[in-house]
This record gives sequence, structure tokens and C-alpha cells, in this order.
Amino acid sequence: MALPSQQTVDYRSFKLVIVGDGGTGKTTFVKRHLTGEFEKKYESTIGVQVHQLDFFTNRGEIRFNCWDTAGQDKFGGLGDGYYIDGQCAIIMFDVAARLTHKNVAAWHRYLCRVCGDIPIVLCGNKVDVKNRRVKAKEVTFHRKKNLQYCEISAKSNCNLEMPFLYLARKLAGDPSLHFVDPVLAITRKMVSAVNLIVVYYTSDSYL
Ligand code: GDP
Ligand code: MG
Repeated sequence: MALPSQQTVDYRSFKLVIVGDGGTGKTTFVKRHLTGEFEKKYESTIGVQVHQLDFFTNRGEIRFNCWDTAGQDKFGGLGDGYYIDGQCAIIMFDVAARLTHKNVAAWHRYLCRVCGDIPIVLCGNKVDVKNRRVKAKEVTFHRKKNLQYCEISAKSNCNLEMPFLYLARKLAGDPSLHFVDPVLAITRKMVSAVNLIVVYYTSDSYL
């Protein structure tokens, strides 16, 4: 329930386009949110997968329809259909692989060519690794293009909500928007399912 001083926004859903070189951790990142599991094996995403991620905020629920595809494709290879109607985006690179960082500019160019000026978060993933190749201070692209930069690790669960929080704030036009517990709707759905089972079990009349 909203507090008197707060306005709730309608339940909104947004197309979130995730791009970046193959192997940077895009699929792992999305799946981590969906299931909480860390995907160890690397299977390139074939075609497009759209994952729905629901977050509870102090201004209502927000849904990101996360588009995830094979990052190995060349920049033009995804086709405009992947980007069309994209309302926000994540560009991912791997801090342990220099080339993936170098390619960020090209991903950004391609994204903006189709999507125009949408909220974008640049994510440097795999900050857990020992052999880090791209240092935080070397990452300057976001300043030139007015993007948000987040250092994350899908493996060690580091900063994983930050990109979504930034995008939600931009999309809602409210810099003070915050997530409320449980942050992910899926968690709440799981909790309700457990409650249901308990209620069902305890109300068994033949016991
Ligand atoms: P995608 O091609 O961008 O979708 O990349 P994947 O999500 O398939 O991940 C590629 C590989 O990187 C997999 O072996 C993952 O286990 C690994 N990976 C993903 N995120 C991390 C991370 O934060 N840290 C480490 N060390 N490995 C990761
Ligand atoms: Mg993938």
C-alpha cells in the first residue's frame, strides 16, 4: 500500500535490450535474477530469449522484458528487430577481456541508431576475477555518452540490482525510487507458493 505522501505509478513494463560481446555474461546475469543460480557452463544463446523480471518499488511494480541473444553475432547481425521499440538497455563487457571493452562503442552506436536516446547502463561484469584486464579508471566511455556505469559480478552476486534500479529511476522519472523487499516479484511469488502449501496442509480436515 502506498504511503499518503507517495504516489504509485501504474504497473509498467519496458523492453530492455541487452547487448555486448559473446561470453561477457549477459545470459548468466539475467538467469541469476530469474533463478538465483549461477550458470557455469557457457552455451551461446541461440536466437532470442525474452525473460520477464518483475521488481517491486516504492512506486509500484515494474516489469523488464529482457531481450537476450547471441552476443557472438556481429553488430549488424542481430537485425533491427531485436532493437526496435527498445525502451532501455544494458551494454555488457567483461573486465577480464579487453576486446569486449573496446567493442562497447560499436554496440552503443548500433543501439542508438535504432533506439535513439534511451536510458542505458554500461556494465563491467566479472569483477570477481583475479586477472582483471580493464581497470575501473580506464572505463570512461559512459562519461562521454552520459550513461550510467556499474561494476558487477554475476558470479559473486555483486551489484546485480544496480543496473535495474538506475533504469527504473530513469523510466519512472523519479531519482528517489527504490526497491522494496522482496525486491524481485519472483521471490514474492515463491514465498506465496510456500504459504499456500502450508495453508493447504494445515487446513486438511481429515487430519
Ligand atoms: P553471454 O554470451 O554474454 O550470454 O555470456 P554467458 O552468460 O553465457 O557467460 C559466459 C561465461 O562467463 C560462462 O562460463 C559464465 O559462467 C561466465 N561468467 C558469467 N558471469 C560471470 C562473472 O561474474 N564472473 C565470472 N568469473 N564468470 C562469469
Ligand atoms: Mg548468452
